[in-house]
Amino acid sequence: MIAVAAAGPRILLRRLREIMAEPASAQARLDKLVKVIAANMVAEVCSIYLRRAGNVYELFATEGLNRAAVHNTRLKQGEGLVGLAGETAEPVNLSDAPTHPRFSYRPETAEDPYRSFLGVPIVRGGQVYGVLTVQNRTPRLYDEEEVEALQTVAMVLAEVVAQGGLFDTAELDEPELRVDRPRAFRGEPLSEGVAIGCVVLHEPRVRVERLIADDPHAELARLDKALDRLRAAVDEMLASTELDLTGESREVIEAYRLFAQDQGWRQKLRDAVRTGLTAEAAVERVQDELRIRIARTGDTVLRERLHDFEDLARRLQRHLDGGAALQRQLPNDSVVVARAMGPAELLDYPRDRLIGLVLEEVAPTSHVAIVARAMNVALVGNVEGIADNARAGDLIVVDGETGEAQLRPPAEVIRAFETRRSLREQRVAQMVEVRDLPAVTKDGVHIRLMMNAGLLIDLPHLKESGADGIGLFRTELQFMVGETMPRLADQIDFYRRVIEGAGDKPVVFRTLDLGGDKILPYGRWEREENPALGWRALRIALDRPALLRYQVRALLTASAARTLRLLLPMVSDVAEFNLARALIDREIERARVLQQPQPKRTLVGAMLEVPALMFMLPQILRSADFVSIGSNDLLQFIFAVDRTNARVSRRYDALNPAALTVIRQIIHSAAEAGGEVSLCGEIAGRPLEAMALVGLGLRILSMQPANIGPIKMMIRSIDLREVGEFVERLCGRNDHSLRIRLAAFAAERGVVLK
Ligand code: PEP
Ligand code: MG
Repeated sequence: MIAVAAAGPRILLRRLREIMAEPASAQARLDKLVKVIAANMVAEVCSIYLRRAGNVYELFATEGLNRAAVHNTRLKQGEGLVGLAGETAEPVNLSDAPTHPRFSYRPETAEDPYRSFLGVPIVRGGQVYGVLTVQNRTPRLYDEEEVEALQTVAMVLAEVVAQGGLFDTAELDEPELRVDRPRAFRGEPLSEGVAIGCVVLHEPRVRVERLIADDPHAELARLDKALDRLRAAVDEMLASTELDLTGESREVIEAYRLFAQDQGWRQKLRDAVRTGLTAEAAVERVQDELRIRIARTGDTVLRERLHDFEDLARRLQRHLDGGAALQRQLPNDSVVVARAMGPAELLDYPRDRLIGLVLEEVAPTSHVAIVARAMNVALVGNVEGIADNARAGDLIVVDGETGEAQLRPPAEVIRAFETRRSLREQRVAQMVEVRDLPAVTKDGVHIRLMMNAGLLIDLPHLKESGADGIGLFRTELQFMVGETMPRLADQIDFYRRVIEGAGDKPVVFRTLDLGGDKILPYGRWEREENPALGWRALRIALDRPALLRYQVRALLTASAARTLRLLLPMVSDVAEFNLARALIDREIERARVLQQPQPKRTLVGAMLEVPALMFMLPQILRSADFVSIGSNDLLQFIFAVDRTNARVSRRYDALNPAALTVIRQIIHSAAEAGGEVSLCGEIAGRPLEAMALVGLGLRILSMQPANIGPIKMMIRSIDLREVGEFVERLCGRNDHSLRIRLAAFAAERGVVLK
């Protein structure tokens, strides 16, 4: 028998549900609500304050205080005990309220006789919508169960208010929190495209109808079962990885398991269910509280822990949902809205139904942005507050070129976006016309335009874009989409399909570049203080050689009788490259001895992403067959800015003289050593940046397929000698950015920059 305490809140919640269902006016329902809450909590006073524009808490309903004060008493954020609960987003529980320094006496309320006070915030998605209070004459502290019960009621109220279910939002004039009004947001344009579709919340909220449990005993059992399943799934997930788990990584995995078993978390969830919430609502409430508490501490270690709990909470919701279906179901024309997202999570969504993505936090060269571009999904990033304002199913329009995102737009805005969408479609169609034209400058220099890829679904773009080949195949993406590590046979099959899909065109396979912001959903990695500088890419491969060896084995087999091009990520020094190359050679030798199929030639290149390697170019080019500049990482290290940190990632421009000088130096030293050098970072796909790059001497660029057309048009419109001389002069300047000068040059010379 499961012990379920506190029947009080459950009865209260049931009454709440009944009141919500009644066909009365908003005010009548609120009045009834406070009466019922007061009676249930044996309180002489119960009041609801809701937040109005300008951060003012207005008394909307009361039982016990003077009714004339309703809609008259207003408290500013931080003013009085109500303002205090709103400001801190935490319960304020006092046995003798009038003696508290923040007590603010309002004669119109006639609250003189009441000494004990409990105020809890009405919170939803980290936002405070109002404050719910109870008061009594006798001085006493409310006990834990009472606080818990009032918080549960407040949660339900928040959801109801936010979704417009209890209160006719039209009655709130100028309300900042009105949920159904159109809202225009502006963020950073990160992936082109105009999307007109429906909101899907990445972290879906529990619908009001599903907040209150019918049978708390059964609900508790359901929660326990889901928690057990979650724990078992975590165990299984960890056991099934083919990573060789020893020492440190084993400890990390144990830590994750501990999170899943965290008694405090479990207890909080169970307590919330005991108050009458459904298990789903309990998970949401506990997360909301945790989020607010941790955000306020500003503690980075705790923030990292929050990520763990958010991850676990999402998994738990899926278990409650009856199955751990990772592939998400989406309606057609979906636009996913989220606070933040990792690349693996984005890859969980079916590509054919997802047309847009709006994120509150994301940096331009973070992998989720790169994946969005590869998926051809319009992305607007750094849109403050959208996750709490959007409701599932809302109409939304997104423009990945201007950075606009509008929720619940009026008809004329939709029409304007439709026009933009068709203009864009026309532009895309124009690109098809240049597809088969050569990428040759006006003075006859041919530039090789390659595309970046990572999944099978990218392959048709090779033909559509007219790319000369795949200059960067990010193999880790395939590892990130599955729920388990792909086995050798799966890898062989996958690479074979890529190679066959590419036909005669070359494919450069980059070996696994994990770590940093690319985390496998099934593996568990140690949280590092500075993941970009941490255990990633080639460093993992050298410490866990089995991973690299299996991958190389699969690639060798799949490339039978062809040329295999391998690219090693994050090479920091020559010795490291040589070690990896020796591992590759061992695999080649193994294939020879076992008489297994193998390529006729294997070329191994190094990614130039770590500045130290710039000073070793002549030496590395003795061991490496080619070098590819990974400007996303290289520039983050050159400028010391975290590419995933939206706050700083735009601080320095890739068209800063230092950046251009660095690239010029690499090109010169590679030329002296007689080696091939290309560039495959995001800047290769931006016309102005690419103009500067070819001016500096680069002849091979690899980019998102959608950028091939515009870059080709730029190439065909320049005189390379002229550009070269101009860029050379710019390198000596000390501007923060050379963008304006380059743009003026391009405009003067009629360079096509689309
Ligand atoms: C780069 O760093 O520029 C690069 C191409 O690799 P990734 O973006 O996958 O880190
Ligand atoms: Mg990189």
